[in-house]
Amino acid sequence: MKIIIAVDGFASTGKSTLARQLAQKMGYTYIDTGAMYRAVTLYFLDNTISLKNKNQIEEALLQIELAFMQQKHTGKQITLLNGLNVEEPIRSFRVSNFVSEVSTLKQVRTFLVKQQQQMGAQKGIVMDGRDIGTVVFPQAELKLFITAQPKVRAERRFYEMKEMGIVTTLQEVEKNLQHRDTIDTTRTISPLKKAADAVVIDNSHLTIDEQLDRAMQLAKQVILSLTNKAHPPH
Ligand code: C5P
Repeated sequence: MKIIIAVDGFASTGKSTLARQLAQKMGYTYIDTGAMYRAVTLYFLDNTISLKNKNQIEEALLQIELAFMQQKHTGKQITLLNGLNVEEPIRSFRVSNFVSEVSTLKQVRTFLVKQQQQMGAQKGIVMDGRDIGTVVFPQAELKLFITAQPKVRAERRFYEMKEMGIVTTLQEVEKNLQHRDTIDTTRTISPLKKAADAVVIDNSHLTIDEQLDRAMQLAKQVILSLTNKAHPPH
């Protein structure tokens, strides 16, 4: 039996790491919806699309084709924008500082949510983002809501960026996370919020393995109870 696992939460809580590992362990597909919003943002920036011009936005979206590819040697997921690997530029501050504004747009959300729902139509998917358990898959069998203390999140992100060779300061990272969290939680359409039936995991003091164990346990419980319901034990 395959299920849909929705992983939502604030910026830099380690959602993507958890979702990727969970998918790998379960033999499921992993989809990073943040990468999709980031790729659209990159396209808008490169083509100087005005967020106030609805027609321009509509036309731009018609030009955007997104796809994911598995990198052979690392197993990492690569985001493709119109066939080009954009994994690096979509993680830059140029994109990070603008993505939440782009993500408030109704047209952008409708465009991406439709694709995300298609990707999960066959189940067997772990999807991470902000509105997966509330809007994209409100019927997901398992919903996780990941949180961590702001300071812990900023530090994690800072070291992650440093490793990627991006020159920055802890202060700049903190400012960006706050900026995105504020817009993400207060926007009118699909704001970030915990689904009523989501399980909260605060990973401030958990290791990556501990967090994965907890999520795996929850997934196994859900699958077992669904299997028992479908085929009650005699
Ligand atoms: O997950 P990540 O931090 O890369 O997401 C980047 C931004 O994309 C978020 O801050 C948010 O503004 C937007 N986003 C969203 N809905 C999603 C995923 C991401 O609005 N499902």
